[in-house]
Amino acid sequence: MTPFSASVSRISVSSTLAVGIEAERYRAQGVDLVDFGAGEPDFATPEHIKQAAVRAIQENFTRYTAAGGTAELRQAIVEWHAREFGSPFTQPESLVTVGGKHAIFNSVCALVNAGDEVVIPAPYWVSFKDIVLYAGGTCVFVPTSEADGYELSAEAVEQALTPKTRLVILNSPNNPSGAVIRQEVMDRIVRSATSRGIWVLSDECYSHFVYDSQPYSVGVLAKDETVRSRLIVVGSMSKTFAMTGWRCGYALAPKSLIGEMLKLQSHTTSNPTSISQKAAVAALKGSMESVGQMLAEYRRRRDFIVNGLRGIPGVKCPLPRGAFYAYPNVGSFLGPKVPTTNELASRLLREAHTVVVPGEAFGTSEHLRLSYATSLEELGRGLERMRTFFAGLK
Ligand code: PLP
Repeated sequence: MTPFSASVSRISVSSTLAVGIEAERYRAQGVDLVDFGAGEPDFATPEHIKQAAVRAIQENFTRYTAAGGTAELRQAIVEWHAREFGSPFTQPESLVTVGGKHAIFNSVCALVNAGDEVVIPAPYWVSFKDIVLYAGGTCVFVPTSEADGYELSAEAVEQALTPKTRLVILNSPNNPSGAVIRQEVMDRIVRSATSRGIWVLSDECYSHFVYDSQPYSVGVLAKDETVRSRLIVVGSMSKTFAMTGWRCGYALAPKSLIGEMLKLQSHTTSNPTSISQKAAVAALKGSMESVGQMLAEYRRRRDFIVNGLRGIPGVKCPLPRGAFYAYPNVGSFLGPKVPTTNELASRLLREAHTVVVPGEAFGTSEHLRLSYATSLEELGRGLERMRTFFAGLK
């Protein structure tokens, strides 16, 4: 028996955080690292958002708010969502959370019982798995293939549904692969799961970072009552508005589920920070110009890093269609000397002072995840280091 609860013993520390901690050790020793690990924009939070937070402090908006967020912010969320995507949600169907991750945690904990199955396409964002395990659920992974750019097939998801399936988690654009699920595929999965009474959680934290399609939310399907009764849309200020540290996200879901999530929230975090909520209102009501500028810059970086990676002998890299991650295949370097990407990522850190996240964390065995939310200059330095490192391995 472990000395700690069964629920925490089932999970591990987020590997992206673990990589960050290891990198920090090197930095503390003065090592000049190139960091492709962090899954966050390197852009500053736009000025009008920062100013709203400063005003909130000056006006003493520094007390507890309603645990599920202010009415002002909940209203701003549903209006922004309707404007951006055409969704029909109302304020009682919204909840403000401490980042998108918290919305996912609350949703899963409010829905999943021991033994319930949760269908998750792979590669997947690491926290989906651990949150489901924490809640006592069983993950059922649906693999996608690198050869078709990790495109998800609706049939494959449908085949994974069983009488025990409680929830399907979709994530488009995807962390780590950058894949974007085609709209008709998303719609079909949502309709076929919800019509069987199965919940669908759509994690749309990267919604606005798509390179050859328009931002899309399955929230628009909530105009249909069957869908609406079983759909959770999760979003976040973190990536769209370069606000990772502010910790502000949201869920849009049926009022009854929002009530259960709120119960949990009222006994754990209570409200997200009052000041961040004011900043989030400014983000959602203000100009979206900065989002377009970030997207243009991410596109330049994506093209640069993918071309650079493809130029390294032995590395294959599909073109990511969204988010800000490249997910190259480095399987040709694995063998008796370097058996796993965990080992490969450690050696890249130790020997080439370059931080990447091993694909094992995301459910695949031959990949590394590189965040390109960093300057072109850093991308160039990191690519050079990787080129030299991989040449030495061959
Ligand atoms: N969902 C995905 C797929 C992510 O990659 C992240 C963060 O990296 C989140 C959700 C949560 O972000 P936050 O809690 O900062 O909103």
